[in-house]
Amino acid sequence: MLPRSEADMLLCRALDVPRSHIYAFPERRVGAAAAERLATWIGRRRAGEPVAYILGERGFWGLDLTVTAAALIPRPDTETLVAAALAQIRADAHVLDLGTGCGTVALAIAAERPSARIVASDVDPLCVALCQHNAERLGFAVETRLADRFDGIPERFDVVVSNPPYVAADDDHLQRGDLRFEPRHALVSGGGGVDFLAALVREAPPHLKPGGWLCVEHGCDQEHQVRGLFLERGFANVHCHRDLADQPRATTGQWP
Ligand code: GLN
Repeated sequence: MLPRSEADMLLCRALDVPRSHIYAFPERRVGAAAAERLATWIGRRRAGEPVAYILGERGFWGLDLTVTAAALIPRPDTETLVAAALAQIRADAHVLDLGTGCGTVALAIAAERPSARIVASDVDPLCVALCQHNAERLGFAVETRLADRFDGIPERFDVVVSNPPYVAADDDHLQRGDLRFEPRHALVSGGGGVDFLAALVREAPPHLKPGGWLCVEHGCDQEHQVRGLFLERGFANVHCHRDLADQPRATTGQWP
């Protein structure tokens, strides 16, 4: 059996009605076309495919984002990163979201700071197109860039924010749940998960204005390692932020 919340989400979309409708009209019969759609989706879900990929959307920060299997599914954990970054983002700041995927972090920031100049980069052209699509649908002015980390990004920013790959290649979570269907290069990094983070911390300073901030998401067991990387590189005001489950989830530091 599917969890009730998932079954409800699939049913609402099959009928093309809001959630309240299925509670208000429990006697409504499901027509043949909707029943067929629903049966296909339930089959896919039973085979493990994430609901977000089946429906092609996921909510994040109050925004409806289109998602495809090219990008990581937006997670509530990432709200911690967004909140930590927003604390350092002035109304007119110049911001880079590196590895934007479907645009999760860049678009949440755009929603809160409509006058900021936001660049969203990704190494995958499909993600660049997906982020662009979401920005257009929401009517947000986010500039997308195809780039491998900072390659091809010449400017300096007030804030660089990133939810990079940080899962170790041998982590069993990769064999479970939604992670089995998500792009591996968006999840997995070498060095037990920290290679990408280490490279980001090393490469970020020439892309930060004096007093600029680097804000990264990381694994709950990477707090001390990531703090060490920031301090060794010369960042100041290094601070770890906890997620809603009270796990260390994001680190921010200021380039002096
Ligand atoms: N937080 C995700 C997970 O462990 C990983 C996301 C990421 O690598 N950026 O499920």
